[in-house]
Amino acid sequence: MNRRQFVYGSTVAAAFARIPNGLAAAKYDLLIKGGRVIDPARKLDATRDVAIADGRIAAIEPSIPAGAGETIDARGKLVVPGLIDIHTHAARNKEGPELCLADGVTGLIDAGSQGADRISETIAIAKSAPQQCRVLINIGRAGILPEGDTMDLSRADAAAAREAIARNREMIAGVKARLSRDVAGANDFEVLKRAQEAASPFNVPVMIHMGQTVSPLSKLFPLLKPGDIVTHMFAPPPNSIIDDNGHILPEVMAARRRGVRFDLGNGRSGHLRWDIAERVLQAGFLPDTFSTDWTPEGRTAQVIDFENVMSKFLMLGMPLDQVIACATLNASRAFPVFRNRGTLKPGAPADVAVLELREGSFEFVDNFGNNRTGRQRLFPSATVLAGKRVASRS
Ligand SMILES: [Zn+2]
Repeated sequence: MNRRQFVYGSTVAAAFARIPNGLAAAKYDLLIKGGRVIDPARKLDATRDVAIADGRIAAIEPSIPAGAGETIDARGKLVVPGLIDIHTHAARNKEGPELCLADGVTGLIDAGSQGADRISETIAIAKSAPQQCRVLINIGRAGILPEGDTMDLSRADAAAAREAIARNREMIAGVKARLSRDVAGANDFEVLKRAQEAASPFNVPVMIHMGQTVSPLSKLFPLLKPGDIVTHMFAPPPNSIIDDNGHILPEVMAARRRGVRFDLGNGRSGHLRWDIAERVLQAGFLPDTFSTDWTPEGRTAQVIDFENVMSKFLMLGMPLDQVIACATLNASRAFPVFRNRGTLKPGAPADVAVLELREGSFEFVDNFGNNRTGRQRLFPSATVLAGKRVASRS
């Protein structure tokens, strides 16, 4: 618990202590009734009512009488902490954050859409986002380029990135380095070194985009520090995290041991192949976080929404509570801006996702056109941001 949470938690508790008959007399702005509440932070998975007051979670009890405020009927649905997506490109478009919010995403990171030259554009969108939104600065100063962000090594400009971070300390949460052959070519190692040079004065994480790199991971991963994030962890060879015999590479294990995080980064090309994901999970190497690598184009192909991405891992056999943890609690730990989120603990900001877990036959596709059929699919149902219900995706 950090200091802020402690202070808010105590305030809520003190408020109730002054009210005779406790919960019954308390006034709530919003009550989410009868849902299956899953809060991995507290290992809670049970039918509960969730009461919200003043933008914070006020109480979670088996039964809380409805008061004057609004009620959401969550019977038959899941009630989980608001989803946190740590790898999106939502701040490329003005509408991006709002579209994600309707899917239950109450916290998001734009991961390197822009570099130093045009970082103010993504920052402006992040600032106007309804939910918590921060950006990673691409070490390539021109941002994402079709010809490769840092194919021209002079674009990997650590000094320019440092200046941009210094000017926007509040909004830039870290540095993104895209290292694939078609993005950085043979410059991958040098690009990552420069990304660390940009990040280190500010003690912020570097997120690397791995997969199909020129350099082997044994050369790249030693440059990763605790708190850094490896996205596209299920990318197929060359330079996958798993070898042909089904063993996770030793430098990958070592990175995890020292606190490097491993993230899905679904995306649409080259990042996710079912057989790799299956073998990595079989080896017992579970993702820390899911992320969509969201773009407007992804809404109609492969990504669709965060719930669809999460459902792929239900299909691959991950238990529901772990799937929820990857999209909430674990993600909240990746960046300080989310530190008091990702949980429904009384006193926490009331960011809540109400989801439907439907049974049936659902088609999922990886980034290589391979289809698989799952028996469950999560769908967004209602979203609460800072204690207020937001409009759902129709
Ligand atoms: Zn991306």
